Amino acid sequence: MAEKILIVEDEAKLARFVELELKHEGYEVMTANNGRSGLELYESEKPDIILLDLMLPELNGIEVCRRIRKEDELVPIIMLTAKGEVMDKVTGLDNGADDYMTKPFAIEELLARIRVALKRSKNTIPAADNSDSLLKLKNITIDLSMRTVKVDKTEIELTKKEFDLLVYLVKNKNIVITREQILNQVWGYDYFGETNVVDVYIRYLRNKIDEKFGEKYIHTIRGVGYFAKDEN
Ligand code: CA
Repeated sequence: MAEKILIVEDEAKLARFVELELKHEGYEVMTANNGRSGLELYESEKPDIILLDLMLPELNGIEVCRRIRKEDELVPIIMLTAKGEVMDKVTGLDNGADDYMTKPFAIEELLARIRVALKRSKNTIPAADNSDSLLKLKNITIDLSMRTVKVDKTEIELTKKEFDLLVYLVKNKNIVITREQILNQVWGYDYFGETNVVDVYIRYLRNKIDEKFGEKYIHTIRGVGYFAKDEN
């Protein structure tokens, strides 16, 4: 069965162009030209992936993204942003988008990212409910099947990417991991040099865990990368 792609974009020409290209690739495509109808289409059609413009009439892309994430942590969302909206990219990622593309973009690059995102989302099958699905770092417990994180008994709310990043660090605890490795593993491909997204996410994690619980879990090796330090 063809995978369903929802495009939420108010620039009619761009939306039409992307729609035709995606149909040509064999995807089933639906489009919305404002945030509210985008959200409605998401609800009724349950697409496999969403391409979401940032600046939209009625409901902006960030808000649409946030609402979708409340219901579905896993459906891939690629934000489409205009040039120079750097802060907004970060806000988008913080609200649960998986990726972003800056307009104008090459259609081949968009197609490649869609393939990567779809493949990744299919591979994210919840683990069986057994002890293998628990990861530990000091007093942090990560439940991979439930996708929950607890520090002692306190549950921590993390976005999808924060969760994936923490899991990757903890699976490789006590090993220094470079930003590039994190990008490849957590974001899924070479991120075209914008490695500072890793630093941004490390900061989010530290705010939610290290800072909040007054304990140093994530360590920085300057010029190299990061590691999660467990008790010796
Ligand atoms: Ca727009």
